[in-house]
Amino acid sequence: MTNHTKHDSIRAELQTRLDHLMKRAQGIDSELSEPGDTDWEERATEMEDDEVLATLGNIAVKEITEIREAIGRIDKGTYGVCSRCKKAIPAERLDAVPYAKTCTACI
Ligand SMILES: [Zn+2]
Repeated sequence: MTNHTKHDSIRAELQTRLDHLMKRAQGIDSELSEPGDTDWEERATEMEDDEVLATLGNIAVKEITEIREAIGRIDKGTYGVCSRCKKAIPAERLDAVPYAKTCTACI
């Protein structure tokens, strides 16, 4: 086992999560771009749903970005190192948030 493959299982997990989020985000996008019903009452309900979907979309986009960055750090060999204090991020924190880029003290 070389250092290169040290984070392979995490990388695979992140990639799976990323694929899932991408599919979900694309699903949200297609729902948002559907032409709305002209009936006013239904239109109002749809707008509320759209806001909920847009919020979900923003969360997904943020997570997609963070996961992509984490995969990039694994490839560069800087994964698991705090981006602020440069100390190792505790394993428990990486278990809870695999794409964490700061340690518990630097959140
Ligand atoms: Zn730190």
